Amino acid sequence: MSFKKFFNIVLFATLISISFKVEAQQFIYSTKFKSYNTEQKKFNKAIEEARIELEKIEAAKKAKEAAILAKKMAFLNENWTNKQFFAYDRKTIKEPFHLEFDTLNYSSPIDKDKVVTSRFGWRKGRAHNGIDIDLVKGDSVRAILPGKVRYVKWHGGHGRTVVVRHDNGLETVYAHLTKQLVKENQEVKQGEVLGTGGITGNARGSHLHLEVRYKGQPINPEYLFDFSDTNEIRSQDLWVSRKYTNPVNFSSRRKPKITVHNSEEEAKNASKIQKKIYRIRRGDTLSKIAYRNNMSITQICKLNKISRNKTLRIGQKLVLIE
Ligand SMILES: [Zn+2]
Repeated sequence: MSFKKFFNIVLFATLISISFKVEAQQFIYSTKFKSYNTEQKKFNKAIEEARIELEKIEAAKKAKEAAILAKKMAFLNENWTNKQFFAYDRKTIKEPFHLEFDTLNYSSPIDKDKVVTSRFGWRKGRAHNGIDIDLVKGDSVRAILPGKVRYVKWHGGHGRTVVVRHDNGLETVYAHLTKQLVKENQEVKQGEVLGTGGITGNARGSHLHLEVRYKGQPINPEYLFDFSDTNEIRSQDLWVSRKYTNPVNFSSRRKPKITVHNSEEEAKNASKIQKKIYRIRRGDTLSKIAYRNNMSITQICKLNKISRNKTLRIGQKLVLIE
């Protein structure tokens, strides 16, 4: 073999090997590029999916807010009237019912420490549908929650009265006022002055008679609000049972024992024992009443704080268990 031929062979081989290397390199680069491209596409897709997901969450949040607002507006508008104290002619609500609050605290209806002089409960043979808070004539009376003024009038034994509707369906009643300082349909902030306290209507001394009602049904205010100086709402989400709407279950003189119902079931269980009022008729005796109502005479006497030989008057009311 001549040197020239050998040289040509070597040159040829070298060239082939170089071109092969270049191609191999190109192949590696293109593969890497492809894989980079695929990764980039995956990444973009993930971002797009996340964006769509976020939009869905935002839309759901807005829908939820709109639903809450609609519910509040419905509460504020239902049976709206400035003419009557009672917006509902008859009982429309059945216990247990659900209640929600936006805040953890209410505003005190008066500026000084609250002294409760009479509570929600049975008082001298009649229902006391609110609580009485001591005040001096002329003291400011404030809205305990934000809301809209529904009624500003004189209402029988309540005297000068203001009723405020709140957006969770509750209404608060402020009675025996000296001056009413708000107008019907006016929106009020929590803590806003509604009037000044006094002694108008059927009141022995100056005090605020405060009622809390849901669709007309009075609720023991102490079930929802702690009337100590903490001004706490007992729970932002609770159920109200018949136990806390029936004044017969409480004495106006005693501080009630409160157990908040956190679920419908708890509320239902609490309502199992129910009290009712019985009016004595001609010919009634304790033993006849006990027999007819499946109770013992001792039970009736204890419940009504009377002795066994008490004379029963026609028309007199007794508390019995349903
Ligand atoms: Zn009262």
